Parts: sequence; structure tokens; C-alpha cells
Amino acid sequence: MESHIETILWNQNQIASRVTELAAQISADLLDSPPAAFVGVATGAFLFLADLVRQINLPITVDFIRVESYGCGTESSGKPRISSDLKLDVCGKHVILVEDIVDSGRTLECVIEHMKLKGASCVSVCTFLDKPSRRKIHLQLVGQAKFYSGFQCPDYFVVGYGMDFAESYRHLPYVGVLKPHFYK
Ligand code: 5GP
Ligand code: MG
Ligand code: MG
Repeated sequence: MESHIETILWNQNQIASRVTELAAQISADLLDSPPAAFVGVATGAFLFLADLVRQINLPITVDFIRVESYGCGTESSGKPRISSDLKLDVCGKHVILVEDIVDSGRTLECVIEHMKLKGASCVSVCTFLDKPSRRKIHLQLVGQAKFYSGFQCPDYFVVGYGMDFAESYRHLPYVGVLKPHFYK
């Protein structure tokens, strides 16, 4: 698979140490609050969520929500929709949304609003990657809500560690930039 990758931006060790730092930070912030509900945005967040929650030594719940906006290309359609909802009730809970990458912010805006409608008392965000240069939406985090981010990502289309191109490359244990040849 490495022959499909132009550059590796973060390797397995770099990812593991950053996830450990994030888990420590979140755990410290959660110490004095009621049990939090971790919600992964499927499918992209599945590896990050799994690595993160295994280092949270507190009573929490774990669930997934599925949002689709990308289709098969490298540009967002701009209209995210929830295609599979939560299994657990988050009313009155502190929700921590776990995302692979925040780009325009539209997906997160949609999920944050959805959690508020379900009565979540607080909606924090933990994203593995953040592309602030591409943000179109100013995310409304209220009250005690926090925004955690693993790494700032340059403006490339990246794959691996959960992130796909046309549903491939999600299983790569590192994050890399796909060679243009494979998506053009
Ligand atoms: P947004 O709604 O913030 O524009 O996009 C969020 C979603 O688009 C992410 O959760 C992710 O699934 C997808 N996305 C954005 N940038 C990238 C990227 O560089 N690579 C991949 N594979 N997916 C991306
Ligand atoms: Mg995502
Ligand atoms: Mg995708």
C-alpha cells in the first residue's frame, strides 16, 4: 500500500504518543464531571475512538453515529446528513464527539446540533486532525464544552488511520497523502 502514498505525515509511533496525550488531557478534564458519552463519527473515527477510549480509565459509554457528506470524491458535497443514529440516550449527558478530521466544519455543526436536540447537557469535540485553513463554519461550543485536536493538518487530502478515499486506505496505521494518480 505504501506505493500509493506520496508522503507519510504521521507514523504509527507519532499517532500513538499524541493519542496518549489527548487521553490524559481528556481524563483530567473529566475527573470531576458525571460519566461522559463518547460518540464516534463513523466510519472515519473508528480507529481513533478505539485507541482513545482504551486509555480513558473512567466510567464512560461508547456509541457511533453515521454522517454522510463526502460520497466517493475528495470534495465535500456540503450537505451532511445523519444516516444512522445513536443507539444510546444522551439526554443530560456530556457528549464527546470523536471525529477523524474537521475540514469545513459542516459535519460537526450538523452532529453538534443533533446532540443538542437530543438534550445533551454539553457537547465537546475531540478530532484527530484539524484543517483550520478550510473552515467555513464557526463551531458553536457552549458552556464547559472543549475542543481537543490531535494535529493540525496541512491542506492535503489525507488517508489512513480511519480516513478513506472511496472506502479504501482506512486500515493504514499511519496518515499519508495519496498520490494524485490514485484519485484522478
Ligand atoms: P467537513 O464536514 O468538516 O467539511 O468534513 C468532515 C469530513 O470530511 C471528515 O469527517 C472526513 O470524513 C472528510 N474529510 C475531510 N477532509 C478529509 C481528508 O483530507 N481526507 C479524508 N479521507 N477525508 C476527509
Ligand atoms: Mg469524519
Ligand atoms: Mg470519507
